[in-house]
Amino acid sequence: MFVKNLIMLNVLCGMLFFIPAFAMVQQPAVDGCVACLPARSGEIKAPENTSGICSINYSDFTICQTDYWKLILNPNQHYLGRSLLVLRRHASSLENLTCFEETEHSQMQRVIVSVLKNTFACETVNLLYAINHEFKKKPINPHVYWHFIPRYGREIYLNEHIFSDTEWTNMVDFSRDDNYSFQIQPFHKSIMAYVAVALQKELKENNIAISPEFIVEHYR
Ligand SMILES: [Zn+2]
Repeated sequence: MFVKNLIMLNVLCGMLFFIPAFAMVQQPAVDGCVACLPARSGEIKAPENTSGICSINYSDFTICQTDYWKLILNPNQHYLGRSLLVLRRHASSLENLTCFEETEHSQMQRVIVSVLKNTFACETVNLLYAINHEFKKKPINPHVYWHFIPRYGREIYLNEHIFSDTEWTNMVDFSRDDNYSFQIQPFHKSIMAYVAVALQKELKENNIAISPEFIVEHYR
């Protein structure tokens, strides 16, 4: 009897996870939230006089997209490989996430940390949920995302750039976010290509589906 109940429970749980995966559709964008807009639309521009997640040109910096999340390279690469994991639908706070979004976030987090460590040989990866900048904009319209910040105990030379984690062993310096360009540079594309190739391999091995438009060849 116990075994039979266990089997029924497994079947029910399987259905719960199965149905929403097929029923999920892309949510429409919420007014004023650039993070809600689809990546690579070619129409998203960095708004002037804004800061935080909404000031990033996603069409150029999106590395990969799964059912519920998209990984975006932070234009500020003071910390080589620094990225943002952004929820694909509009949710203003962590308590609004569905169990499916949380499950995939957990899987993505593990994979992204592994990829950053293996790709750039960083010492560790700082994970940070801090949507404080979202509250600078009016009207207030925060959007859930996570910072992934690789940390280094040595300088790295890549694409004629030297990356130096001058704050190593201390907290990251977010004041460096105040002055940087949203214009994508060749070194951005190189970093995205490195991450994308490794990421897509690991996502596939972990059975996490990638949106078909985000294929490795795009970064070549
Ligand atoms: Zn949004």
